[in-house]
Amino acid sequence: SQQKVRRNAHRSAITTDGKRMMVLGNIGGVTDAQVALSMGAEGVGLLRTEFLYLDRTTAPSEEEQFAVYEGITQVLESRPVVIRTLDVGGDKPAPYLNLPQENNPFLGWRGIRFCLDRVELFKIQLRAILRASASRTVKIMFPMISTIGELQTAKAIVEEVKEELRQGGIFFDENIKVGIMVEVPSAVTIAEQLAAEVDFFSIGTNDLSQYIMACDRTNPQVARLADALHPAVLRMILQTVEAGHKAGISVSLCGELGSDPIATPILLGFGLDDVSLNPQAIPRFKKSITRLSLIEAEAIASEALKQDSATKVREMLMTFNYW
Ligand code: PEP
Ligand code: MG
Repeated sequence: SQQKVRRNAHRSAITTDGKRMMVLGNIGGVTDAQVALSMGAEGVGLLRTEFLYLDRTTAPSEEEQFAVYEGITQVLESRPVVIRTLDVGGDKPAPYLNLPQENNPFLGWRGIRFCLDRVELFKIQLRAILRASASRTVKIMFPMISTIGELQTAKAIVEEVKEELRQGGIFFDENIKVGIMVEVPSAVTIAEQLAAEVDFFSIGTNDLSQYIMACDRTNPQVARLADALHPAVLRMILQTVEAGHKAGISVSLCGELGSDPIATPILLGFGLDDVSLNPQAIPRFKKSITRLSLIEAEAIASEALKQDSATKVREMLMTFNYW
């Protein structure tokens, strides 16, 4: 029953053959952090910071952001918190930022592209994140990276901010981990090069699916095509995991695919180090992991890759009963 699942929510997710998978939560605020914890999250794999910037008339100050990040990390105690830098544009507008109307917002000025052009705004957020790293395990994650150049520029700005904090005698984690969302097809194809520049990857299957399938995820007429279980998407997920592991970095997944019960063996079988889920999906995910073996999951994952449509992948997965 649902109650029993919740009671077991705080156990570790370990397969029958001993492989542990870390299960983190996706959150968008302090209240979510408490919910994630009560659902058994072992940390936060994605803090969407857009909520700080939306529904207001001016940008959030450094102090305001710092207070929120501190509040969240305190709830999580010693558990890691991955803070994603601002990902506006596309489906996430912020009126006072005066984002221009675009013909193709999802292909436009969003995520890291926007932040690299609005460095003052970006630096305020980075200062707040770095300050929150002084006492807790905080990691920085950049959204929508599509080139090495963007990543190198973003990292250089982090270094500048660190130097400014040092000059001001303000504490932060000198070894703060920096990672990227892998959610644009170009990032997958150059994943080996990107991996050499970061501490971790987190695969964003929501955007990755819509970009691989050339399909607007908010347009009901075509949204069905942007199915993360399509073998075209699955292959790119596996390619990303392999490139990351070859470079010795950890690879996570934080898109909605993680919360789809039938996808669990694929994610386990692909060798992901951890997943970050909607908090509500955590208990069920952990339970499924404890019912699977890694060997079995690898076989299911390779079977899925051989299918020629998302429908067939889904049909195949439905024949297994581990949830
Ligand atoms: C994603 O794209 O998969 C993701 C997790 O980010 P968001 O849904 O916030 O774009
Ligand atoms: Mg995304």
